[in-house]
Amino acid sequence: MTCVICRIVAGEIPAEVVARTPDGLAFLDVEPLADGHTLVVPAAHAPTIEALEPSAADGLFRLVRRLADPVRRAVDAAGTTIGINNGEGSGQTLPHVHVHIVPRWPGDGAGTIHTIFPRRTSRKLADVAAAIRKATGA
Ligand SMILES: [Zn+2]
Repeated sequence: MTCVICRIVAGEIPAEVVARTPDGLAFLDVEPLADGHTLVVPAAHAPTIEALEPSAADGLFRLVRRLADPVRRAVDAAGTTIGINNGEGSGQTLPHVHVHIVPRWPGDGAGTIHTIFPRRTSRKLADVAAAIRKATGA
């Protein structure tokens, strides 16, 4: 087993585990962006969100929901930014789905999700929506 996150789930690599369920594990990022920076992962290996079994996705997001407030309160944060780098093309470096919960404080110097993207669009909203609906089979 070479996936680092699978090895953490299996207990082969030590981690500061904060919660465990049959479907997932939550542990502190070893290179935290802020105190309390937590990673929530599915127990079963899947490289991307779309590769997750639906039940694994349910379990993963139940755990994210369960942890968001305790992570925030544990470090007296004002809020959290929750995000996923989904796939190599997004900059994902560990090929096992992991949800970041990063505590936030006013004036912490970090931006919102909107600030990580330069606004670069070229297509009309209605055209993009139609393409997405078509891709989903709706
Ligand atoms: Zn894995």
